[in-house]
Amino acid sequence: MMNQAPARALISRRAFEQNIDVVRRHTDAQLMAIVKANGYGHGVELIAQWAWEAGIDWLGLAQIDEALALRQTHTHGHILAWIYAPGANFQRAIEQNIDLSVGAQWAIEEISAAARASGRPARIHIKVDTGMTRGGFDVAELPGVFEQVKKLAEAGIVEIVGLWSHLSCADDPVSDAVTDQQVERFEQARACAQQAGVTIPLCHLAASAGILWHPKTHYDMVRPGIVLYGLSPNPARATGTDLGLEATMTLEADIILTREVPAGVGVSYGHTFVTDRPTRLAVVPVGYADGISRHASNNLSVNANGHQAPIRGVVCMDQFVAEAPDAQAGDTVVLFGPADRGFLTADDWAQKTDTINYEIFCNLGPRIVRIPVD
Ligand SMILES: *Cc1c(COP(=O)(O)O)cnc(C)c1O
Repeated sequence: MMNQAPARALISRRAFEQNIDVVRRHTDAQLMAIVKANGYGHGVELIAQWAWEAGIDWLGLAQIDEALALRQTHTHGHILAWIYAPGANFQRAIEQNIDLSVGAQWAIEEISAAARASGRPARIHIKVDTGMTRGGFDVAELPGVFEQVKKLAEAGIVEIVGLWSHLSCADDPVSDAVTDQQVERFEQARACAQQAGVTIPLCHLAASAGILWHPKTHYDMVRPGIVLYGLSPNPARATGTDLGLEATMTLEADIILTREVPAGVGVSYGHTFVTDRPTRLAVVPVGYADGISRHASNNLSVNANGHQAPIRGVVCMDQFVAEAPDAQAGDTVVLFGPADRGFLTADDWAQKTDTINYEIFCNLGPRIVRIPVD
């Protein structure tokens, strides 16, 4: 395939499907594939389609606009969105068959008004805060909430689809007590629904870490994100390889120029690297505008023809320089990819740039083309 883009993310269908199998081996619950933030940078339409073809009929995205954009091409299956502010276009979401999380009194009011206007019920998932201390109703508010939504459901204004929450410390082996407490509060929330005579078709609590390490959090549906992309939610606890996962993305770029410079030459802005001997340098056409952290400057390397080529000087907006003794213009370098091919991994990049693998993916910008492989 001819491609003009000098930097590409190769997205492996085989790896993605292998990762789904790993999740399925951990749980019998239904799966909601989390594809927010452009499918964790992998390309949301591609990932949504592959998930559907693998039998996953629930997708989760954060913002309503992300959900609406995906709905244009992904006309089948369920989509849940949970991030919005007052004044959002709930009517459009309802008409496009987007399920909505509801975790605030104002949201009940705005969403039921939109449902009345659109003449069809809003499909809602009631969000309870079990200990994340972020979004959702407190357990203490739930009796009133259930009473209210029960009436709305009886009037055909809402359809109660789910009750859900999110775990705060499920990846941390020394925080089991926190997860236990969250499960306990989730149980209280379920009991509240039952007391109010509200039937909840789908209870869901677990993301990747809950799936892997807390079976009692699985309930009816689980919401895997990072594991589908082949990375561990806590590589210090177990790496992706330990878990049987394979990185879904390989990030590569084509060298645009090589040059030989003598000793004593400063490289890139600020000359933070100065050669100490004659050196062959290669210019790699990705930079911080593409999500390559400036913390990679003089700190990480890329794989050029099977060797690690260290980044020299600072990462610029659109390019950086690496020391690559045997490279030519047009050679492809790999920044990160599957661990078993001798590449650095997104975990390596995260560790060296002081972040988590999730952020390495989400930061990747639109100039990097996503190409399906395998
Ligand atoms: C992002 C997100 C997930 C997926 O989390 P992972 O740790 O990537 O599995 C699940 N649920 C909610 C509510 C999220 O925001």
